[in-house]
Amino acid sequence: MATIISYIALGSNLSDPVQQVITAFDELAEIRETQLIARSSLYATSPMGPQDQPDYINAVAQLSTNLLAEELLDELQRIEQIHHKKRIMHWGPRTLDLDMLLYGDMVISSERLTVPHPGLKQRVFVVQPLLEIAPELILPDGTKLASLMKQFDCELIPLESEVST
Ligand code: AMP
Repeated sequence: MATIISYIALGSNLSDPVQQVITAFDELAEIRETQLIARSSLYATSPMGPQDQPDYINAVAQLSTNLLAEELLDELQRIEQIHHKKRIMHWGPRTLDLDMLLYGDMVISSERLTVPHPGLKQRVFVVQPLLEIAPELILPDGTKLASLMKQFDCELIPLESEVST
């Protein structure tokens, strides 16, 4: 199995979200046959959907993996379970959400997996942290990631204490 670069979006807005995301980075680093190559800063963002819930903490990780896409998804879901992911309502609060944004250049549409992740291009809290760790990234459809920032009204400010090391 060839080595593939995959990007994972991390999000949390319950139970000390900063700590949830920091711990999740460590757990991503321990996935079998996988290395954590880079981690973005953490960004605080307002929730999508219902507004009566805490802000989200979002970040993106770059992994290098020998796992198949669905095997990597299994690992992401296992980590979500460790964080007791609870979802009371669609777009409601959650302890940890891990989304596979990209898996190499592959376009995947299966029962369990849609890659690139359908929300990738529209969400500043995904595009900006991804750009931070992969400024030259070109999406499988040929879109330059950097070109996507202009659609957003403003840039997010990274949490200072969590600027990547
Ligand atoms: P959510 O909790 O909203 O992230 O949705 C989780 C569900 O989305 C799971 O059943 C996954 O099988 C499915 N899914 C489809 N594409 C992806 C992806 N690119 N990354 C993570 N989960 C995905």
